[in-house]
Amino acid sequence: MAITILDKTFRPYLSKEQIQAAIESIANRINTEYQGKNPLFIPILNGSFMFASDLFKRITIPAEISFIKLASYKGTHSTGNVITAIGLETEIYQRHVIVIEDIVDTGKTMSVFLPQLTHQQPQSLKVCALLHKKAATIHPMQIDYLGFEIPNLFVVGYGLDYNGQGRNLDSILQVDE
Ligand code: 5GP
Repeated sequence: MAITILDKTFRPYLSKEQIQAAIESIANRINTEYQGKNPLFIPILNGSFMFASDLFKRITIPAEISFIKLASYKGTHSTGNVITAIGLETEIYQRHVIVIEDIVDTGKTMSVFLPQLTHQQPQSLKVCALLHKKAATIHPMQIDYLGFEIPNLFVVGYGLDYNGQGRNLDSILQVDE
């Protein structure tokens, strides 16, 4: 069923069952691969809060979670945006870190943020994203745990917003064009 959010119409794209099944399979892999490693999950707010929550509930090995927000602003002396992480309270030196993203679009955010984490010398660093728009890639990167490859269309729901609205939906919808 199509729904209207603000001035746009969206139609169903991924059901809650499809999303939960994808999360289950990612969680199973992480539970196996991080046995004895006490991984630190770093979800990026706001978009990934729902994904991170459902994924973390399925983690059965000892693990920690620390949410961050990325602030983007124009640097005074550099060209392009400067991205800084706000709220990372846990030391990541020598930790097994898994960054949790809602969606990787151009890859710009991760291309700036991941080197900042690497600089703090984690023991390992992997990326887990629910969605990836491969066709939109400008900064190629490896996504170690991925829910779905999706076409280059705007999506909302399950934490993702359209002008602040739609984050509360438990499924993912795509814009009707
Ligand atoms: P990137 O830096 O990879 O280009 O963009 C990543 C960020 O852009 C995501 O974390 C998300 O906030 C936003 N984004 C990209 N595509 C979409 C989309 O289709 N829907 C929504 N709601 N946000 C998107």
